[in-house]
Amino acid sequence: RLKDGRALAEDVWSIYNVANLPADCINLGQGYMNFAPPAWVKKAADEALEDVSANHYSHPKGRMRLRKAIKNQYGPLLNRDLDVESEILVTSGANEGMYSVFTAFLNDGDEVIMFEPFFDQYLPSIVFNSGKCVYVPLHPPSESKEGATSNDWTIDLEEVRRAITPRTRMIIVNTPHNPVGKVFTREELEGIAALAKEFNFLVLSDEVYDCLVYDGKEHVRIATFPDMWERTISVYSAGKSFAATGWRVGWLIGPKTLIAPTLAACTRIVFCSNSPLQEAVAGGLEQVKTRHFFETQVKEYEERRDILCAAFDKLGMKYALPQGSYFVLLDISEVVWPDDYNFPKSLDGRGRDFKACWFIAMEVGVSSIPVSEFYCAEHCSIGERFARFAFCKDNETLKKASERLQNLG
Ligand code: GLN
Repeated sequence: RLKDGRALAEDVWSIYNVANLPADCINLGQGYMNFAPPAWVKKAADEALEDVSANHYSHPKGRMRLRKAIKNQYGPLLNRDLDVESEILVTSGANEGMYSVFTAFLNDGDEVIMFEPFFDQYLPSIVFNSGKCVYVPLHPPSESKEGATSNDWTIDLEEVRRAITPRTRMIIVNTPHNPVGKVFTREELEGIAALAKEFNFLVLSDEVYDCLVYDGKEHVRIATFPDMWERTISVYSAGKSFAATGWRVGWLIGPKTLIAPTLAACTRIVFCSNSPLQEAVAGGLEQVKTRHFFETQVKEYEERRDILCAAFDKLGMKYALPQGSYFVLLDISEVVWPDDYNFPKSLDGRGRDFKACWFIAMEVGVSSIPVSEFYCAEHCSIGERFARFAFCKDNETLKKASERLQNLG
């Protein structure tokens, strides 16, 4: 399985890592913040380190305080009285949670449908678990469309239907979407849910950016639809919600029938997640309502998004305004470089976008991620038109990046 070309090639995050780029390059590549988690969440982490029990293994399901905090926060959102013993599983980040789902449910050759572009980690995680990826396109806005938003990236339910075979085991729905920023509409999700029921497959609902939805748009949870709870595992991430991507704390919510096998896999893979930081995340979730934290955070992210997008407007470059997540895709098809430009060997055989992102990082001083990496080998030329910029950075950094980006003009 390790022979899969994509899984073994140098991962995109390492190529465009700051360590590989000039020291003063502004990193709008990998999606992590350049600001700290809130002080009151960090305080909960400090307190946890003083608690002997929180420095040791937690129950593989997760620390009880965190499971209770998740129940209180997510129960109302999912319209359910969640059972902390059987319907919540704390994982070592959302990635590990999804990996455990694949380990639990995929038999050799089982197919997983996903919308393309897709978060790159799905592919190796599925391949390592003997599954097969099946791709359905998200159709980009037409090149001539002015003022596009991420929701102008559309799905065609007939294409989803055509992708279904007797081997279809599950579909991954990622909303808000990385890298597009699309927030799937209720109608789109209803169409997907109807197919999942008609053909009896599972839904892995990757909602790690659920707290980052803009312009008053609604984040719709597919697990709340009629008869969907039984076949859906929803995925969440403290890293995204509390600016703590390195803490590696995520959680899955679903019915006992789906959580129990995933727990079995997760226990054998990592046994349990990081204990003290689970306590810290519990402390965070316990306070978000009284502090109106997520509401305030959304406004801050809208401002960050708007600073960066204003720079693209000024340049007259095309992008689709993201309605969720913290990524924006910029159309880089008109960025050009000298024929004799010296690119590193690691870019040999990679798409045009890999070169464009490298050129922009070296010459303009702002790093981004080439979007062909979010496509399978067969379709990667579609992604070559775009670079993904992350705006999970403080305003000052984004303003500086915006100034530098004007040199692209
Ligand atoms: N989810 C983050 C991003 O898309 C980080 C990905 C990773 O580190 N594998 O940028």
